[in-house]
Amino acid sequence: MKAIAKNGGVDVLEVNDVPVPQPGPGQVLVRNRFSGVNFIDTYFRTGLYAAPRFPLTLGREAAGEVVAAGADVPAALREPGTRVVYMDSAAYAQFAAVPAASVVAIPEALSYERAAAAFLQGLTAWTFVREAGDVKPGQWTLVHAAAGGVGLLLVQMLRSVGAKVIGTASTPEKCELARSNGAGWTINSHDDVVAKVKEITGGHGIDVIFDGVGKATFDADLEMIAMKGHLISFGNASGAVPPLSILKLGPKNVKLMRPVVNGYVAERADLERYSAELFDLITSGKVNVAIHKTYALKDVAQAHQDIESRKTSGKLLLDCDL
Ligand code: NDP
Repeated sequence: MKAIAKNGGVDVLEVNDVPVPQPGPGQVLVRNRFSGVNFIDTYFRTGLYAAPRFPLTLGREAAGEVVAAGADVPAALREPGTRVVYMDSAAYAQFAAVPAASVVAIPEALSYERAAAAFLQGLTAWTFVREAGDVKPGQWTLVHAAAGGVGLLLVQMLRSVGAKVIGTASTPEKCELARSNGAGWTINSHDDVVAKVKEITGGHGIDVIFDGVGKATFDADLEMIAMKGHLISFGNASGAVPPLSILKLGPKNVKLMRPVVNGYVAERADLERYSAELFDLITSGKVNVAIHKTYALKDVAQAHQDIESRKTSGKLLLDCDL
């Protein structure tokens, strides 16, 4: 089969022939149809996050069909042809042997494409709204990179739970997209975001901030957060947040979190519940899944270049058949 199996800069991403994996006990072999491109894949490529091994097959999620199952796989996931989606490593490939514990069946109404586009970023956005942020109706919330993959889902989900949503983005077009997807207010991130937030919230500040941008926005977050606000710092698109003095949280009793989606779905019951809620949000039309572009698997370097260049909005996918 074809798989991407090298680590480094965009130029060193390669398509290599590697053996089709065999499913071990508790694993299913999935023929991937679409694999999601996530910003985290660039961290493993650049080395910001340490690779577990080399050569490394990147990718953290895909949707496709079960082709074989190892021992001890539950009956619901054993049947060849079962349509599934999963979050697991080595997903930039035509086939993947993945633990059945991280695989869920896709409802009829959801295509492989939309399932792959929504799964990792959707579970991230939904668990962060529900658990990390514990967002309540009427609260002021702010989403950085609001036209990005996670960002566009966050603004829609926050609106669906009754929050007041401010989105930031780097261009007028991205701001418009965030607004048409549920942000009540948008701020161009090149403007004075802290001053604009003060104006919009009448001096209250933001109750829950969702920040996947990291280094470039963290200090401003501490300025514009409301008294007793929650600061959810969950990514490093502009670089990692440098170590900070805990004393900075004191003046406003800030709750600072650095959550990872996997921690909220580590228990099978939580994965099933949050996946069902996510699929329901999508199939009921409450949440729209915006796909920026679907690339051929062999064009993965272009996909990485595009997401890193800030030219994309919504989700990037790889077609694993091409
Ligand atoms: P996006 O589609 O949101 O792309 C990243 C966006 O970040 C860009 O579009 C850009 O939007 C913004 N950005 C700001 N500064 C930079 C910069 N210097 N270089 C590149 N982009 C920049 O990606 P994802 O939706 O895949 O991920 C968003 C964030 O969420 C990432 O930090 C990712 O690591 C994190 N994440 C964390 C998870 C967790 O469990 N903790 C799970 C999933 C994602 P703009 O041009 O509008 O500024």
